Amino acid sequence: MNKLSLRDIEVKDKKVLVRVDFNVPLDDNCNITDDTRIRAALPSIKYLIENKAKLILVSHLGRPKGKVNEKMRLTPVGIRLGELLGVKVTKLNDCVGSEVEKEVDKLKSGDALLLENTRFHKEDKENDARFSQSMANLADIYVNDAFGTAHRAHASTVGIAMFVDKAACGFLMEKEIKALNKLTENPEKPFTLIMGGAKLADKIPVMEKLIDKIDTMLLGGGVAYTFCKAKNWIIGDSLVDEVSVEVAKEIITKMRKARVELHTPLDHVVVQKISEDAQTITTERGAVPAGWIGVDIGPQAIEEYETEIGLSKTVFWNGPVGIFEMDRFANGTIAIAKALANNEDAYTVVGGGDSIAAVNKAGVADKISHISTGGGASLEYLAGVELPGIAALTEK
Ligand code: AMP
Repeated sequence: MNKLSLRDIEVKDKKVLVRVDFNVPLDDNCNITDDTRIRAALPSIKYLIENKAKLILVSHLGRPKGKVNEKMRLTPVGIRLGELLGVKVTKLNDCVGSEVEKEVDKLKSGDALLLENTRFHKEDKENDARFSQSMANLADIYVNDAFGTAHRAHASTVGIAMFVDKAACGFLMEKEIKALNKLTENPEKPFTLIMGGAKLADKIPVMEKLIDKIDTMLLGGGVAYTFCKAKNWIIGDSLVDEVSVEVAKEIITKMRKARVELHTPLDHVVVQKISEDAQTITTERGAVPAGWIGVDIGPQAIEEYETEIGLSKTVFWNGPVGIFEMDRFANGTIAIAKALANNEDAYTVVGGGDSIAAVNKAGVADKISHISTGGGASLEYLAGVELPGIAALTEK
């Protein structure tokens, strides 16, 4: 990368403000249910503490919509981070203002401070210049290590970089980019793309961009039904993105021309209402009865997808192949996670919060080559979009 790296700068005794992605899932009692994103940020954090920087960490959490929300404070994150580091992390109740400035001034080299959720201020998402400057004034150096938010042009990811002398790339950001580049620069073949989830519009650019790189595309989840509809199959009341049906037809044609094997599930688990206690039946492809909704891929599809994954040398997976939040509809998604883990010869990359959760639920996270902390960011990067959070950093 042609951007300044954290490795390139002298950090000793400097106030270094690091934008991390601590947007972790919390339960109703504000307990962290998955700390993957905190752990992923540890290399930059440990490096800065060991090299005697005065560390200031800043992140968003959830969608508080510009207002203080007691359920979205970073307090539990500060506690968890302290446990992981084995040092005390002081957590403040705001991310700008005179109180914060006073605390920052008290920082000693090697100390770590965690600021409050940036999105308690609407100015963060608005990329407000004054807010960016207030945050920038806290620090000598800015580091962006929040890959998961790098596709958003906010004050804490882009605006702030305009008001500091040096804006560098953190270790996690570098690792993510390297891992994703490996998918597009001479990937070992066969290369399989697995696309699931609900928001087809987010995935279309990646499918289009990767047509010439991949050998196989496996579809599951809600996004599969728009392709089934494009083939004039009967999908009952399953999720369909009507505006994308024509695009799906074009992708089918383009993939046929490029000799990409495009698989839709051979069978589906369907229900009449989406609830844990719903009666389920399994239907063949193209035969989902009216009033029934596809919620998972069926056993034949699982078997076929396991075989395809087993034959691959490179795999990128984004989006669950069923409504996996409900245990009864998680079989397909868990099977995909395990199939990726079982193919130890392949280079496997998983992106997105849901897929990370699925890999953790299956207990196979350590057998995946790279787990990307950014769902939207990894999709945009692979689609060839320049991520604003990276573009804003200082050139080498
Ligand atoms: P995305 O953010 O686009 O990757 O979508 C993730 C969401 O897709 C998850 O919350 C899943 O519950 C949902 N999903 C997966 N399969 C289906 C399906 N067959 N119908 C509706 N939603 C689905």
